[in-house]
Amino acid sequence: MQEAVGKVELSEQGLARYARHIVLRDVGGPGQMRLLASRVVVIGAGGIGSPAALYLAAAGVGHLTIVDDDTVSLSNLQRQILHRSADIGRPKTNSAVDALKALNPDIAVVGRRLRLDADNARSLIADHDIVLDGSDNFATRLAVNAAAVAEGRTLVSAALGPFEGQLAVFRGHLPGSPCYRCFLGAEPPPEAGQSCAEMGILGAVAGVMGSWAALETLREILAIGDSLAGRMLLFDARSAATRIVRLRPDPACPVCAGEASPEGTR
Ligand SMILES: [Zn+2]
Repeated sequence: MQEAVGKVELSEQGLARYARHIVLRDVGGPGQMRLLASRVVVIGAGGIGSPAALYLAAAGVGHLTIVDDDTVSLSNLQRQILHRSADIGRPKTNSAVDALKALNPDIAVVGRRLRLDADNARSLIADHDIVLDGSDNFATRLAVNAAAVAEGRTLVSAALGPFEGQLAVFRGHLPGSPCYRCFLGAEPPPEAGQSCAEMGILGAVAGVMGSWAALETLREILAIGDSLAGRMLLFDARSAATRIVRLRPDPACPVCAGEASPEGTR
């Protein structure tokens, strides 16, 4: 028994695997086919990238690229749920690909074991529909943002504090829509920003924000509800509180100013 969706059909296995999506009016067979045809690049296979990539793989996003240059260490396992104790010492891209393929063998998963920088960022993201940034430093985040604007890709960006999370969707390539650099303002010094290693983090906070980043990515692909683009969701784990703030484009932004409307407003 197969359900025809356009020219392509979901196999019986596919119908079973994605049954809880397919019964949703907002997804259905066509939405599931859209997920299977979509390509997402996840920057970082760490605290955010782990749950994000797992949920995207489970959802049947047809092509996932995982970019990370690190190896698995024991102290990662408290929150980076793509990796297992047996993976310690392996490249994170290897354990990530193994975990994601084990979860969903129907999708393509590619690991790119390298550090994303200004030189390679555009070529890494160009072949994808959406960029999910779960990296842990400003230099990478700025390079991802500049490449996303240049390549005209939507950027889903999540960041963590010990008990806090931030989540935003940037469409800096569209007129009047802010990019990550607009939000950040002046470029921070290279030493700015503390890592999880320095600050500590309650692991499940990464789980919340990574899962939420996956959710926003799926909402973008499926065009469900109101996009988070141009807004930032702030999560305070100590009080289980969230709030949303509006982000404004910076008319003087060196990354997206050329793309923004003359008024610099939404
Ligand atoms: Zn900008």
